[in-house]
Amino acid sequence: MTILQGNPVSPGIAIGRIYKYIPFDPSVAETFCAPEETEAQVAAYQTAKASARAELDTLFAHMSKENPEKAGIFQAHTDILDDEVMDEEILAGIQSAYMAADYAVATVFGTYIDMFSQMEDPLFKERAMDLQDVQSRFIRNLHGIEERNLSSLSEATIVLAEDLFPSDTATIDRQHVMGIVTELGGSTSHSAIIAKGYGIAAVLGIEGLMETVPDGVQAVLDATTGALMIAPDAETLAEYEQKRETFLKEREYTQKFIGVEAITKDGVKIDVGMNIGSVKLPEHQEHAEFIGLFRTEFLYMESDHMPTENEQFEAYKSILLAMGDRPVTLRTLDIGGDKKLDYWPMPHEENPFLGNRALRLCFAREDVFTTQLRAALRASVHGNLQIMFPMVGSLEDFRRGKAAVEAVQVELDQAGIPYAPNVKIGMMVEIPSVALFADKFAAEVDFASIGTNDLTQYLFAVDRMNPQVVEYYQEFSPIMIRTLAQIITAFNQAGKPISICGELGGNAKATAILVGLGLTKLSMNTASFAACRRVITGIEASKAKDLAEQVMAADTEAEVKQLAEAFIAHI
Ligand code: PEP
Ligand code: MG
Repeated sequence: MTILQGNPVSPGIAIGRIYKYIPFDPSVAETFCAPEETEAQVAAYQTAKASARAELDTLFAHMSKENPEKAGIFQAHTDILDDEVMDEEILAGIQSAYMAADYAVATVFGTYIDMFSQMEDPLFKERAMDLQDVQSRFIRNLHGIEERNLSSLSEATIVLAEDLFPSDTATIDRQHVMGIVTELGGSTSHSAIIAKGYGIAAVLGIEGLMETVPDGVQAVLDATTGALMIAPDAETLAEYEQKRETFLKEREYTQKFIGVEAITKDGVKIDVGMNIGSVKLPEHQEHAEFIGLFRTEFLYMESDHMPTENEQFEAYKSILLAMGDRPVTLRTLDIGGDKKLDYWPMPHEENPFLGNRALRLCFAREDVFTTQLRAALRASVHGNLQIMFPMVGSLEDFRRGKAAVEAVQVELDQAGIPYAPNVKIGMMVEIPSVALFADKFAAEVDFASIGTNDLTQYLFAVDRMNPQVVEYYQEFSPIMIRTLAQIITAFNQAGKPISICGELGGNAKATAILVGLGLTKLSMNTASFAACRRVITGIEASKAKDLAEQVMAADTEAEVKQLAEAFIAHI
């Protein structure tokens, strides 16, 4: 048995077969064949087509049962495969132009993909994506490479990948994917957030993973400690089967707390909100009292053009309507750093996380900022909206952002366009300079939310995406807790709402400390509701305050974790 150690980001115990996920690269070389080889190339083309169709039929049958809404995609792909015009053109490419079968497929599909992707209509653009998908399937079959996708697996599986992207996880087979292990990604990466959202055990940041672990072998993933055990012996297997049972029972018990009112035993009410990153509200949204963080980046990242004011307006409106009276905290565009857009080329930066990102970028592109603010303010009449700026580093930043909102309000007034008059303007606290100046900010802003993901990164000068430095990313350090205390105290003293929306806000091990520091609003992924509410209802706020004092006096992160774990051990 080999044991590899990584960074556990979504707890759980998984037992299953290793499935190495390597996205297929469909690029082909410009290859021609001799006239006497055309028949063999045509035969290869027909065989690949038949295999592609068989794959699509299986996917269609599987998805019709699992997720009928998505099954239609595969029917549409079969129709593309059967398109007679393209078929004739491909055959002509092989028989008359002596192209190799893969080159002929790539050429013909390429022409249509280019044509459709240049059209304005989003339906045609979608069609181009479908063509790309079918082209890739076709070429993979021509190259005799087995399909690797995450939507249809036949047994309990632990997925290994270099990294996972939204497109890989959108249709992930939640029944069979028991665990996720990646080479890249820190605790706040996309893979981590997805795994937590789905309740799938995940360990990230194992260097050399894809090279060392063989495909198809039995493995155990302990995502409570971060250990991946390859080819475990019978004794280990039995031990972990037992541990898995216990973990699942415990989780089932915790789940009962998902919708309970979060009041401590001594009567302190904690508001539990959710973080969202799409127009479709997540599972369990009905248990959220507010949206503490609406990451608007997805609108920009999923689009192939700068989202128009109307596109944004419709998206914001639909969320506000879905939330009714519940407050929605819309965070303005937080792009740059690790988040790039194809249609918005940005100059190379040596240190993108310290560069022109988020609010700074919005200041540089006033048109982009104004478009988003107009869309948000127009949508504000449909619900309870508040606007929040990311990456504020100074009072000047906040004032400049607020002035932009006010300028848009004047524009809307002049045009007679309605907007809610009481939209609160707040900010994220995620740069340490703000923590040091918290009293000044508290006096000026309507509200704030602590972004511990970036705050930790900047406080300890440690890249949150780099798996090689995870041990230095110390969210539980007493230094971090004292920094949080300074922010929370300043806001509480000024009587201004302060919440938390970084990953620490949904970490049940931190909940008692956060309550002890005086936070009464926590925003998190809905997957964390149950565990955090279980802690809140099981503690006394007055004792949590003592715990906070104790951890602030500690020397190391390990001591803080130990104290925090001991405090909630009986709950
Ligand atoms: C944060 O930095 O804590 C945060 C919530 O924002 P993001 O993770 O989107 O940077
Ligand atoms: Mg951030």
